[in-house]
Amino acid sequence: MSATLVSPKTFVSEWPTWCPGCGDFGLMNALMRAAAKLGLQPHEICIVSGIGCSGKLNSYFNSYGLHTLHGRSLPVAQGVKLANPSLTVIAAGGDGDGYGIGAGHFMHAVRRNVDMTYIVMDNQVYGLTKGQTSPTSPTGFVSLTTPGGSAEGPVRPLRVALANGCSWIAQGFSGDLKQLVDLIIKAIQHRGFSLLNVQSPCVTWRETIVEDGQKVGIYEWWKKHLHNLDEEAGYDPTSRTMAFDRLLQHEDIVSGLIYAEERPSYREYLKGYTDQPMSEMAQVLDTSALEKIAAQFR
Ligand code: SF4
Ligand code: MG
Repeated sequence: MSATLVSPKTFVSEWPTWCPGCGDFGLMNALMRAAAKLGLQPHEICIVSGIGCSGKLNSYFNSYGLHTLHGRSLPVAQGVKLANPSLTVIAAGGDGDGYGIGAGHFMHAVRRNVDMTYIVMDNQVYGLTKGQTSPTSPTGFVSLTTPGGSAEGPVRPLRVALANGCSWIAQGFSGDLKQLVDLIIKAIQHRGFSLLNVQSPCVTWRETIVEDGQKVGIYEWWKKHLHNLDEEAGYDPTSRTMAFDRLLQHEDIVSGLIYAEERPSYREYLKGYTDQPMSEMAQVLDTSALEKIAAQFR
């Protein structure tokens, strides 16, 4: 942490091209506030993003950033953290990016427990490519790719994370800034892999939900239905059984801290690993092997 004062404006970069009203604005705003509250400087943060509307986050947030390939933010983010443990590493992307194309990486990152935060802006649709059905779209979702309504059930990322040993799991909502700031702070402070799934509405391709034959605005729908675990008396986020129970009971429509467990992170298991950033290590590069190979082509 640095002694220089920071404010949320410290992290403002270029103005986003997101549609007015997109939930990603709320997430970015919350992330800026959380970083300022933690006293982090831009050079102490690295945001690694995937592809999609949400993947543009690292262009709009003033810090180190890497805009990677579709579904590949997690391997890169884990590498960044292991090479420089002094950085606060945040991977960011959407539901299509993380739970479709990057689903394999997601499961393995969860069990590996590298000390980093994964923020998924989940809007149940592929927004950037004009509204196709995504892995978290509900059954019956009508789009260009499923004109008759999706015949599949949605991926359940919170349950997948819980089943695969994720050490910190929460769900936030772009329409509840206060809770979102609090969850981001806790996610960053957790020593291990933190999954923060954020219900971040796409107001262009999923603006309303039909309920009882009526169209309901997407923000209004989430506000009405989210069960806030942070406010549930007796809810114990260290209980995996309770976490599964609530996810099943509320069909994953919950907000707040779902599960948190203290256990060694990946680097504590690595023999010989040092917390010193690689860039600060005195290394002598032995190029003799490379020179032998190069000599064959001369
Ligand atoms: Fe946001 Fe949807 Fe617009 Fe993309 S298309 S910027 S997800 S509202
Ligand atoms: Mg999406």
